[in-house]
Amino acid sequence: MSSRIAYTRPSITELEVGYATDAARNGWGEHCYDYIHRFESLFRSHLGVPHAIATSSATGALHLGLAGLGVGPGDEVILADTNWIASVAPAVHLGARPVFVDILPDTWCLDPAAVERAIGPRTRAIIAVHLYGNLCDMDALLDIGRRHGVPVVEDAAEALGSVWHGRRAGSMGAFGAFSFHGTKTMTTGEGGMFVTGDAALYERVLTLSNHGRARGQTRQFWPDLLGFKYKLSNVQAAIGCAQMERIEDLVARKRAILARYRELLSGLEGVTLNPEPPGTVNGAWMPTVVFAPALGVGREDMQAAFAAADIDARVFFHPLSSLPMFSGSPGGALAAEICGRAFNLPSFHDMTDEEQRRVADVVRRLHRERRG
Ligand SMILES: *Cc1c(COP(=O)(O)O)cnc(C)c1O
Repeated sequence: MSSRIAYTRPSITELEVGYATDAARNGWGEHCYDYIHRFESLFRSHLGVPHAIATSSATGALHLGLAGLGVGPGDEVILADTNWIASVAPAVHLGARPVFVDILPDTWCLDPAAVERAIGPRTRAIIAVHLYGNLCDMDALLDIGRRHGVPVVEDAAEALGSVWHGRRAGSMGAFGAFSFHGTKTMTTGEGGMFVTGDAALYERVLTLSNHGRARGQTRQFWPDLLGFKYKLSNVQAAIGCAQMERIEDLVARKRAILARYRELLSGLEGVTLNPEPPGTVNGAWMPTVVFAPALGVGREDMQAAFAAADIDARVFFHPLSSLPMFSGSPGGALAAEICGRAFNLPSFHDMTDEEQRRVADVVRRLHRERRG
């Protein structure tokens, strides 16, 4: 009897345990921010950005960043219909209306032409989400943003390790948001990061993140404006420091897993995996298989086959426009259709080759027994 194959799992070594223990034992009083500041510094260096604020989640980082950009009631934000709800919820909480656009068939990320068509007088932000580690076409999006005076923000929660023509995902937009949830390439349990190259936006977000208390404010208990509280704890940051010291290895391992799936699934006509166009690096957070429509392999077939093999593979994101809170919103035709024939494959750093073969065998069997 073979054991269950998990969907994702963090890579935790003695380094993480050691730092977390040190933070729990000594990281109090005047040392209560030591690991937080070190984590932010390591992250800034890794990404090549001047400013970073550790947060309790990517959702919090997005909420702070969008608030810092002034997104509010009556505004519209544009994002791909294919997304997890965390990418849109902060904008909705700020009173903005999401406009869902379709995705490109190769990257499953938002279609720049559809973004341009969706821009109107109320558009206040374009949220570029690098889905599953795949990169949005940042040159096209930044150009559209510049021409229309609309900031492009990056939800890079799934794109640690992804690089667009020499620039890291999350470092190109008005700001970037990252997640260190337990399923992500690196983790702090829960956690996130806000990054930006814009010094004024950084100051606004820093103030917002500290319940509206400006950095220079000397009056005690004196908020200058109504803010938020989305902070990371020092103990979580200690784990983050250890993960950042190992980041090259963590990403390399994720990339190796995707590369191995590519080998194991090569030659299957009509089956595609995450793309890696020339000039880019895919951080490979989530290996995903897409079956061509003609093969007739559907989501229910995949779900049943993986469940029978005791493999925790997951469904592709449902279009946001199909969810109950957005019912009636226009969405994307491809976004609506592709989720019926795509699936996320398990991927964690210490996954064995034997486990990858078991996963690939299920995909190969689905392909062999196709209806189309
Ligand atoms: C995981 C994820 C989030 C949410 O991250 P949290 O840290 O759980 O808030 C946001 N956007 C994307 C694209 C994600 O994958």
